[in-house]
Amino acid sequence: MSYARDVTGPLGKGDVVSNESLANLLKEERRFAPPADLAEQANVTAEAYEQAKADRLGFWAEQARRLSWETEPTQTLDWSNPPFAKWFADGRLNVAYNCVDRHVENGLGDRVALHFEGEPGDTRSLTYADLQREVCKAANALVELGVRAGDRVAIYLPMIPEAVVAMLACARIGAPHSVVFGGFSADALATRIEDADARVVITADGGFRRGKPSALKPAVDEALTRPGTEKVRNVLVVRRTGQEDVAWQEGRDLWWHEFVGRQSEQHTPQAFDAEHPLFILYTSGTTGKPKGILHTSGGYLTQISYTHHAVFDLKPESDVFWCTADVGWVTGHSYIVYGPLSNGATEVLYEGTPDTPHQGRWWEIVQKYGVTVLYTAPTAIRAAMKWGDDIPAKFDLSSLRLLGSVGEPINPEAWIWYRKHIGADRTPVVDTWWQTETGGIMISPLPGVTAAKPGSAQVPLPGIAATVVDDEAREVPNGSGGYLVLTEPWPSMLRTIWGDDQRYLDTYWSRFEGRYFAGDGAKKDEDGDIWLLGRVDDVMLVSGHNISTTEVESALVSHPKVAEAAVVGATDPQTTQAICAFVILRKGSAEGEGLVEELRAHVAKQLGPIAKPKRILPVAELPKTRSGKIMRRLLRDVAENRALGDVTTLTDSSVMELIQSKLPAAPSED
Ligand code: ATP
Ligand code: MG
Repeated sequence: MSYARDVTGPLGKGDVVSNESLANLLKEERRFAPPADLAEQANVTAEAYEQAKADRLGFWAEQARRLSWETEPTQTLDWSNPPFAKWFADGRLNVAYNCVDRHVENGLGDRVALHFEGEPGDTRSLTYADLQREVCKAANALVELGVRAGDRVAIYLPMIPEAVVAMLACARIGAPHSVVFGGFSADALATRIEDADARVVITADGGFRRGKPSALKPAVDEALTRPGTEKVRNVLVVRRTGQEDVAWQEGRDLWWHEFVGRQSEQHTPQAFDAEHPLFILYTSGTTGKPKGILHTSGGYLTQISYTHHAVFDLKPESDVFWCTADVGWVTGHSYIVYGPLSNGATEVLYEGTPDTPHQGRWWEIVQKYGVTVLYTAPTAIRAAMKWGDDIPAKFDLSSLRLLGSVGEPINPEAWIWYRKHIGADRTPVVDTWWQTETGGIMISPLPGVTAAKPGSAQVPLPGIAATVVDDEAREVPNGSGGYLVLTEPWPSMLRTIWGDDQRYLDTYWSRFEGRYFAGDGAKKDEDGDIWLLGRVDDVMLVSGHNISTTEVESALVSHPKVAEAAVVGATDPQTTQAICAFVILRKGSAEGEGLVEELRAHVAKQLGPIAKPKRILPVAELPKTRSGKIMRRLLRDVAENRALGDVTTLTDSSVMELIQSKLPAAPSED
């Protein structure tokens, strides 16, 4: 694929795309300078870039001192066997101690760690002292079940405090956890239990979702009938919904409130090597079979703690942080559990969906807890746009001082909407690029430093080295596109794919010698700022031109009637691929006559005639992974009239039936 050479776009000098609306956004006046008060008191200033540039490893060694080590590391990076990195290898620490006990020892035991908000409206606040007691009890329970350092524990829970407690209890005893999203099927759970060779499963009777209890335990029971899961000795079951019909296998199944409940509140944490495995997490599976990404302890916690401090400018005494991700994906691991808690933050944990019992639920929560920093995904922002501006307007969101985005490229339209309608046209927005594999944030503005450009993740953080290269691994000049690569190892990098070093080498390190290839396309603008263009697999080839799905989607969403768009290239006899768009309309926009033509013309005007979609199909929903990402490969299957590929990571498979049933015949040529 000649992606790198041909890609052009809002900032490219190429022939295909001349995107006026995006170009306008990038004019000086559409940059958003950090608010003066925030900049003055920012945790991290521009100096950090200089410092890290002068001595990258020294910079990370300094960040490692944010943590409490039982044995301080004297080594920083061991890269003698690339790409198998060791960070801080002679240091020893306990991750849970760093997230809980040390705050209590520092006199912060009464500070709230978690404000839990259940979907039905029940609430619970846990202070750091509470959290310490709960984590100790759970750690003692796991030890009683025979779990030893190095044994794997699968966690399959709703978004309740026990999910956080269970993860920290595993970390405390050195048992790597594998959290499986609570919405996954028995099959998906079984393959993950088998792959990680888990000995214990921690689950719940169920959780609340869309106003109803939704059972979880039956999926565990079913998963444990599958071959490969026989080594699971025990299932610990949290009682959340109080359903009466919970099937029980005596000897194997234990109620959390009984078994954990009767444990001692004392547990002495033991230190582990910095490279001791902390967790395995399976990627969300947008591109294919999920990969078991392995993260270890000291380097991971160093980068997560630092990035949470730097990117969210977190002031633990006064901020109320809320990351809306699920603990079942990496954002929940890093920015619900390990980042905020290692920094002694107060945060919100919400169990349910944003529209239960009404579409203002999130904004009500922001108002109720005085949330100051909100971290969410573009998919949620676009859903809020679709529901209408009047909904957030009903709530007092004035506590918010910083907004973040992660998970997909955020189109400028959604970025601006987010800042305006949630951030009162005042708060910085940080668009953070990273992956399960990177463990923590890699590319992002710094809120007190960077003049933000809507739609761009902009610059690698201090201590991070990233660039954009062409097919031949040459760095592209400013104004050109290509492949995003990371050029130096970083502390929270994945160490391997669990049980498959070869797949680790092949997937990430074989495309460009000595560089990590992330799988994403990107462009550097004239200032050298990085714009993510979506996955390389998603780039379309139309009449000899490579066109990024992200850019066509952004053009569609910049039309006032469109809330969300997914674009794929479908095989086409004339043009190699034809652009096929699926759009969700904004509230109040009817599907009427002429809409499709209007949208096609709009894209042609924005991006040039070559980028005009051949087909546009208004739909009610788009197929998404459980982490809210659009699964373009399924839409490609639909557009090419193929049987659907692997749908196990899809949120709701009925969405695909709906889309398939609506698919009209291709329009005639212009
Ligand atoms: P799989 O690797 O199994 O296909 P996945 O890549 O969706 O699944 P994640 O690790 O959760 O799993 O997602 C990381 C990807 O999300 C990145 O590679 C990138 O494509 C996208 N992404 C995340 N944040 C951003 C962002 N701020 N801007 C653009 N893209 C982003
Ligand atoms: Mg990925």
